[in-house]
Formats: sequence, C-alpha cells, structure tokens
Amino acid sequence: MISKKVVLRFPKDIADKPLVSDICKKFDLTFNIMRANIFPRKEGILTLEISGKKDNFDKGLDYLEENGVSIRFVEESIQRDEKLCYHCGFCVAVCPTEALTITDRKTMYVELFKDRCIACGYCVKVCPVKAMSLPEEF
Ligand code: SF4
Ligand code: SF4
Repeated sequence: MISKKVVLRFPKDIADKPLVSDICKKFDLTFNIMRANIFPRKEGILTLEISGKKDNFDKGLDYLEENGVSIRFVEESIQRDEKLCYHCGFCVAVCPTEALTITDRKTMYVELFKDRCIACGYCVKVCPVKAMSLPEEF
C-alpha cells in the first residue's frame, strides 16, 4: 500500500471532468481532500491524499496525466532554506497540520515534517526571512 499527498492542477477545459472518481473506480484507489480551489469556468487545484496499491497508484496518476492533469508531490515540493531559518516559530503558529513543530523547547528548534504538509502556503506568507517555499504554481 502507498499513500501520498499530491497537488492536482486541472486546466479549465477538463476542470468539470470526474477524473478523480474515475481513478478510484478504475484502479481501486481512495482519496482524502486536503484542499480544493475550484474557480467556475477556470482551472481547478485539488490537494489530495491518494491511497492504494503501488501499482494502481502509479496507473491512476498516469491516467490523470494522460488526461491533462498536472501533478506535484507535496512532500517533494515544500522546502525550507536552512541557512535562512532562525527558528523564530512564526510558521509554527499558522501551520494547520503540525508539519512545522517545535521539537526542542530548550533551543526552540522548529522541525519540518514534510510528510504532514498539505501545501497550504501559510508558512511561506508569514516567514519573515522567506525561508519557506513552494513551487510558484501552488
Ligand atoms: S517563520 Fe521562517 S524563520 Fe521562522 S521558524 Fe519558520 S521557517 Fe524558520
Ligand atoms: S505549506 Fe507550510 S503551513 Fe502549510 S502545511 Fe505545509 S508546512 Fe504547514
């Protein structure tokens, strides 16, 4: 079994197609919606956690890509510039999933758990030194 968070970008010409429910039926996958930005008659952006057998997971993502959906893995996309971060903790206060957490109260070290990130971008907005980043298209 595999479970990964992905950001799916649907161009406006396919934004109304039921491609996510297609992959669930065709490849026996399940999904949780983490975030959804759907703009009427424009593109749609969905952040999902998709789970299933590895083989089916790969086939499902191939199917989405073949149908024009662009895919980004969240875990590989959220980045922190360790040289810039000075562990002020501002991002901890806004992170909704505890992907950014103080793990040492003495040093106030802020740890980034990429597997918990849902690519909401709040940390990117609040970081005073722009240490956090996501790809532009997020
Ligand atoms: S807000 Fe920026 S500098 Fe402060 S802990 Fe978070 S990433 Fe580091
Ligand atoms: S983008 Fe930043 S604030 Fe949002 S879940 Fe990921 S680490 Fe937390």
